[in-house]
Amino acid sequence: MTPPKEPSFRESVDLMFNRAVALMDLPPGLEEKIRVCNATYTVRFGVRLRGQLHTFTGYRSVHSEHMEPVKGGIRFAMGVNQDEVEALAALMTYKCALVEAPFGGSKGGLRIDPRDWDEHELELITRRFAYELIKRDLINPAQNVPAPDMGTGEREMAWIADQYKRMNTTDINGRACVTGKPIHGGGIQGRTEATGRGVQYALQEFFRHPEDIKQAGLSGSLDGKRVIVQGLGNVGYHAAKFLQEEDGCKVTAIIERDGGLMDESGLDVEAVRNWIAKHGGVDGYPDGKYIRDGSKYLENECDILIPAAMEGVINLTNAANIKAPVIIEAANGPVTAGADDILREKGCVIIPDMYANAGGVTVSYFEWVKNLSHIRFGRLGRRQEEARHQLIVDELQHLDNHLGDKWVMSPDFKQKYLRGAGELELVRSGLDDTMRAAYQSMREVWHGQDNVTDLRTAAYLVSIGKVAASYRALGL
Ligand code: NAD
Repeated sequence: MTPPKEPSFRESVDLMFNRAVALMDLPPGLEEKIRVCNATYTVRFGVRLRGQLHTFTGYRSVHSEHMEPVKGGIRFAMGVNQDEVEALAALMTYKCALVEAPFGGSKGGLRIDPRDWDEHELELITRRFAYELIKRDLINPAQNVPAPDMGTGEREMAWIADQYKRMNTTDINGRACVTGKPIHGGGIQGRTEATGRGVQYALQEFFRHPEDIKQAGLSGSLDGKRVIVQGLGNVGYHAAKFLQEEDGCKVTAIIERDGGLMDESGLDVEAVRNWIAKHGGVDGYPDGKYIRDGSKYLENECDILIPAAMEGVINLTNAANIKAPVIIEAANGPVTAGADDILREKGCVIIPDMYANAGGVTVSYFEWVKNLSHIRFGRLGRRQEEARHQLIVDELQHLDNHLGDKWVMSPDFKQKYLRGAGELELVRSGLDDTMRAAYQSMREVWHGQDNVTDLRTAAYLVSIGKVAASYRALGL
């Protein structure tokens, strides 16, 4: 049977945008100005490898420059194409607006399977791609700041930062040209885990509202909830690990490229991740039931489904079979517009991508600020904070000595209270605050407007409203 025809990723994003914008009262023309992608640059470049010239195709798309720099990751995958980078760039605009990161939206991609090349070859390819973008100011601390995405990480970001430095030797803010760098190359603590950590904070915030979880037919806390995760890469691994280790969730299925694993009593996320690192996939993992077509496990009974791999995996062919009452879109665009209609009809609560995976850009924002200020967060205040805490601890100690058995200070209070916040604590605190505030803004619209029945539409309304306000401030 031929699968039902679906709109492309970009058309899917536009359909969701249109659904929200129909509920707004924007001046004529502004709606289109916000929706369309400003520019997409395509580059084809050659790199001499293994004794012959190989040609690669890359893209950098700028969706909206209502704020600059524009921001968005660089993806390395064979599926990269213009439609995809434009969809992802649009989502970046809405995401940044929703979490109040002061950026426009952008995205980049290189059509390559990183597993086909060794590290040295990948460095040559990445540096050449970066060169092409830097010379056109499509990588620049003031104009366009990439970050990691699927298939890229700290290593690639370090090569890009170094390439920029070589081409701009006197730019004192050069390090801010890209985020997601390694900590010793101008990065920030907590960036690698940030997107997965944000997924955890988003779920924690959702579960703080009994009214909201009731809407999904759930109750109680995250403790004991059954979770299925697709894609145990950077985002999926961190989200699943934190939910399992810190919130008491049970990860009942893990879906990877080469198949799926299921164990109703819970899989050990760390052990599966180590297995994948060693064997290249989940096949052969000793615990859990393996199937080759892992996507079947998306349809299993569970409480929370976390698609954290790629777009379009929940679509017209499987949406009706999805049983999860809550889907949190850790990946960008995992639910197509058509599937979204079916799932909403079924009462499934979808926590939308532009909110759910905004932890990455939020901490990237902190990294960019750190690079521009040339100082680590917490460096000035930490010891001062500790000195003030010491005063209180001394007073309590005094009281403790006087009251004898009547009152005893808890043994670890002193140690915990005395410790001033370092960079990692500050980053997590800033991220948690961002995720809570953004949820509140969506929630107010979700529950406050009769014609809004889902979180995605609420998220679009909040973010489009903010982008429109920026344009109005510019006199448009
Ligand atoms: P990654 O490359 O680290 O991980 C992707 C994982 O998904 C890999 O383990 C891969 O094997 C697996 N995978 C790929 N295709 C699959 C398939 N068809 N079925 C099952 N598993 C599959 O990438 P990532 O950075 O974790 O990004 C994942 C998603 O999250 C993407 O949609 C990306 O745009 C989005 N995202 C990433 C970040 C970030 O900070 N890295 C931020 C926001 C959004």
